[in-house]
Amino acid sequence: MSDETTPTPPSRILPGLTDHNRAFWTGGAQGQLLITRCTGCRRWINPPEPDCPYCGGRLDPQPVSGQGTVFTYTVNHQPFNPAVPVPYVVAIVQLDEQDDLRVAANIVDCEPDSVRIGMRVQVRFERHEVDGTDRYVPVFAPAAA
Ligand SMILES: [Zn+2]
Repeated sequence: MSDETTPTPPSRILPGLTDHNRAFWTGGAQGQLLITRCTGCRRWINPPEPDCPYCGGRLDPQPVSGQGTVFTYTVNHQPFNPAVPVPYVVAIVQLDEQDDLRVAANIVDCEPDSVRIGMRVQVRFERHEVDGTDRYVPVFAPAAA
């Protein structure tokens, strides 16, 4: 996209797409959470970077299981965006694939008060159209017991 301005997102806060983060925001079209992984040292890297900060290797988006645990979270009561009803939960989810592999995302489909650190969660995707382009925003819901 040549237009650098960011429109008011319809719901979640959505960043501009770049070559480095495009897979993350569009993998949900195939139901996949795509995280960049180093083709050299095989580390998962998030947020995406131009190349591996550990070995300089090339990064390639790869699907992860989408399963993880709540590492930390906050319950937001401030209506920053009228399209998003409060309260809602913003969490850092640690993905199962690697100890330091974390994703910032909303926790959905549960009472905000029920969210706990260490809670098992599973990714799902919310589709939003921005500038005529579909984004698939990863959010997490409590994992089925
Ligand atoms: Zn590497």
